[in-house]
Amino acid sequence: LLEFDDVYQSYGDEEVLKGITASMDRGDVEVVIGPSGSGKSTLLRCVNRLTDIDSGDIRLDGTSIYDRDENDLRRQVGMVFQDFNLFAHLTALENVTLGLRRVRGFTKEEARADAHDHLERVGLADQADSYPAELSGGQKQRVGIARALAMDPELMLFDEPTSALDPELVGEVVSVMRDLADEGMTMLVVTHEMGFARSTASRLTFMDDGKLVEQGPPDRLFEAPEHERTARFLRRLT
Ligand code: ATP
Ligand code: MG
Repeated sequence: LLEFDDVYQSYGDEEVLKGITASMDRGDVEVVIGPSGSGKSTLLRCVNRLTDIDSGDIRLDGTSIYDRDENDLRRQVGMVFQDFNLFAHLTALENVTLGLRRVRGFTKEEARADAHDHLERVGLADQADSYPAELSGGQKQRVGIARALAMDPELMLFDEPTSALDPELVGEVVSVMRDLADEGMTMLVVTHEMGFARSTASRLTFMDDGKLVEQGPPDRLFEAPEHERTARFLRRLT
């Protein structure tokens, strides 16, 4: 479904991605970990063209993302951010209906019905009319997930979706993500939630200094990392 082919990216003269080659199949749940500044967010942002690459290619369903319509691409690739990115002046329901109306062309009634279904899916049917300021961090993030799901994406990107949350709110978001994975959603997830990685990831990738240092089943990386840098990083996490 998704292929990175020798991807290089830089900001000015700072090279961030240094030759990324990897691929994901439909239904895969890939978890990426790595030190701050290693390029994890940049890697995700390149996939829906929030950031342009310098060379190499990224293909979705066999077609370069640069040969696709940008709006179609953003519909097919949902993104969930660390800081939620909700519209403060819109209710939970309206945050979800916005894209349904603008991007998918739903009527007002269709959008409301569909948005309700997606809020229900993340356990927030009874908070539909609340504004972000009235929601907990975990609820806000679940609205963010519902909003992305409403676009009916083929692939979901998560950039540290639980990092801004109080510890007691992490579980509700992780549980929604686990349900999504069980339903077969293809997910590329940057997170340091090792519980999620171990229970749900089909593959764990350790990224350092713009390169994918090591990839494998989570248990293998935890128990027998091949690279000293991976071992050192995992020791610090656990
Ligand atoms: P973190 O774990 O802290 O989120 P990360 O692995 O997601 O880190 P990136 O955000 O991808 O790392 O950043 C990689 C490098 O690119 C960093 O050195 C960062 O300073 C730089 N960088 C990121 N975004 C920009 C930008 N918009 N303009 C210039 N430099 C940037
Ligand atoms: Mg980041």
